[in-house]
Amino acid sequence: MSNPYWSDIVRELDPYVPGEQPKIANLVKLNTNENPYGPSPDVLAAIATESGDNLRLYPDPNALELKQAIADYYSVDVDQVFLGNGSDEVLAHIFQGLLKHDSPILFPDITYSFYPVYCGLYQVSYDRVPLAEDFSIDVEDYCRENGGIIFPNPNAPTGVLMSLDRIEWLLEKNSDSVVVVDEAYIDFGGESAVTLVKRFPNLLVTQTLSKSRSLAGLRIGLAIGDVALIEALERVKNSFNSYPLSRFAIVGGVAAFADEQYFQTTCRRVMDSREQLVGQLDELGFHTLPSAANFILTRHPEKVAADLMSQLRARGIIVRYFSQPRIDQYLRITVGTPEQNAQLISALSELV
Ligand code: PMP
Repeated sequence: MSNPYWSDIVRELDPYVPGEQPKIANLVKLNTNENPYGPSPDVLAAIATESGDNLRLYPDPNALELKQAIADYYSVDVDQVFLGNGSDEVLAHIFQGLLKHDSPILFPDITYSFYPVYCGLYQVSYDRVPLAEDFSIDVEDYCRENGGIIFPNPNAPTGVLMSLDRIEWLLEKNSDSVVVVDEAYIDFGGESAVTLVKRFPNLLVTQTLSKSRSLAGLRIGLAIGDVALIEALERVKNSFNSYPLSRFAIVGGVAAFADEQYFQTTCRRVMDSREQLVGQLDELGFHTLPSAANFILTRHPEKVAADLMSQLRARGIIVRYFSQPRIDQYLRITVGTPEQNAQLISALSELV
């Protein structure tokens, strides 16, 4: 009997492969850009308080309390905030509902690998725009007919940051397109484009609480933009999952935005460790791209990156390797605690 038709449809999809989450004790896990520090103690307390009879009840489908906290934090109106179950879900709604499906959307050739997956799923055509020689995004390459533009800032997996004035220039030149700036890693040294939202109704900024606020397990993502864009996203969301955020996510998210000191301290620690790590890698002969994220992309001119990854793994240290051309000689390494980074450096000094 021939295969039923749906297996052909499903076979066409090229799914995203997330970084592995092995459950082996004592691993130094530097492969998925999680925050090495735990969430704010206030977040844990808020979740503990919520963990009672309230769980019987549905959460607020609008998660208004969290939207208000975010609106206050970024000085925008509450109806300029959209929430989802992680920014991956927010991005899914954007690809599904906000990007034009008749002309190709544009994103960098080396970028977050979920973008082409969503394009496949929602049948959005796309063009990958090559990064410049120094791995930066050249905004002039994005000034052509398009159905939307999306890029992370800083870019992933390079860590390279684009300045706000370049983003402004891009928005001016593309006033008929939705421009999505995916700021998953912005808090580790970049300047958020949220301040441009008032001037540019075509700008949508996405962020996550998974990285700088150390809540990957809670799944909270957000978008900030013009009221009309947010309203469109709400329509897509309500047709898909009208309760995207759990009660834990809502109270945990509110507590995370309230504890500014913890947020600032842990971000600073990650950034300081990053600079120290880059310095130590320099001494071992590595070349590292300038990073404004909580990870780095680095290569050793005399070593095969895939081999280094396996050798580190054999020593209990997990980093990420991408077989894509141009970055296939690099390792992407999440910045860990000073102790984890020291273990990494000690292992690498035996290998190079
Ligand atoms: N954007 C980028 C560039 C990312 O690297 C990630 C994390 N893999 C995400 C979005 C999604 O993060 P989350 O779904 O945890 O919010």
